[in-house]
Amino acid sequence: MKSYVLTEFGKPLAAIETPTPQPKGTEVLLKILAAGVCHSDLHLHDGYYELGGGKRLVLSERGITPPITMGHEIAGAVVAAGPDAKGVRPGDGYVAYPWIGCGQCAACRAGNEHLCNDARTLGIRQPGGYADYVIVPHSRYLYPLGCLAPQIAAPYACSGLTTYAALKRVGAATFTAQPILIFGAGGLGLMCLKLLKALGGKGAIVVEIDAKKRDAALAAGALAAVDPRGEKPGRAIRAVADGSVAAAIDLVGSSETAQLGTDMLTRGGKYVIVGLMGGERTLSLPLLPIRVITIEGMLVGTLAEFREVMDLVASGRVETMPLIERPLTHVNETLEDLRAGRIHGRAMLTP
Ligand SMILES: [Zn+2]
Ligand SMILES: [Zn+2]
Repeated sequence: MKSYVLTEFGKPLAAIETPTPQPKGTEVLLKILAAGVCHSDLHLHDGYYELGGGKRLVLSERGITPPITMGHEIAGAVVAAGPDAKGVRPGDGYVAYPWIGCGQCAACRAGNEHLCNDARTLGIRQPGGYADYVIVPHSRYLYPLGCLAPQIAAPYACSGLTTYAALKRVGAATFTAQPILIFGAGGLGLMCLKLLKALGGKGAIVVEIDAKKRDAALAAGALAAVDPRGEKPGRAIRAVADGSVAAAIDLVGSSETAQLGTDMLTRGGKYVIVGLMGGERTLSLPLLPIRVITIEGMLVGTLAEFREVMDLVASGRVETMPLIERPLTHVNETLEDLRAGRIHGRAMLTP
């Protein structure tokens, strides 16, 4: 099988031939039909996250070191299964939940495998989707594709799951009653808009610096798209929201978005931060209790939430978001296009 492997942080992925693995125990071998290119792959490719103020979180210090086959939004067809794998048949199509934990620790036992400190994440700690085949450790991490096209279903393993979980943190009582604020109209932002609509939301005001992405947000159903570098963005937001907002989902995570996102909250409001752009924010602590605001960090979602969002997608209620399909052989160019902001929608690699 061919895999596109990160052999050294910062370098282009190398096409490497290895024997196709044989599934053991409960493992399932999938032939990859679609693999999404996620913004977090760029951080993985770099080998670090910017933490703001010139500080960095270096992945090699966290035990994440090359070689890495990236790709954690994977849909594929079963080719073979280990002797203890249950409920899968060759030829069946699935989306894989990649946020796999050790299965033993308190977080895993509580159903929060994505918070495991000994994670076995596909595409980060174990080989992922930028390849011909992938091993999934257990069939419980698989959701059947049914009638869904693999390239439509795969993004719900990360961007769909993340934005779905972020909307759950905001709460249906809030987002069905009033517009919310969404920062960023890349793949995550457009996904968040589609899910908000499917969940009966009142809609969202999108804040985005890129004019083309603002247009994409409006086309995806945003109530308004505001340029934060324009004149008085706060006033523009208040005009549409009819005042401050009860919730903001920040899919960018820069110093500027965090400032505006927390400033725009009404009393009792919640700012959910997902984006990893790398900013910092000075907070006036008394204003937290006085304004009764909540700041919540969010990273992907649970296996149960993955099933919930997949059920929602399978019900046909979620509009398809713009997809940019590329052959897997173009993975390096696709990563560069994503880095340069030239991808408007979700980039999907197909065989
Ligand atoms: Zn991702
Ligand atoms: Zn664990």
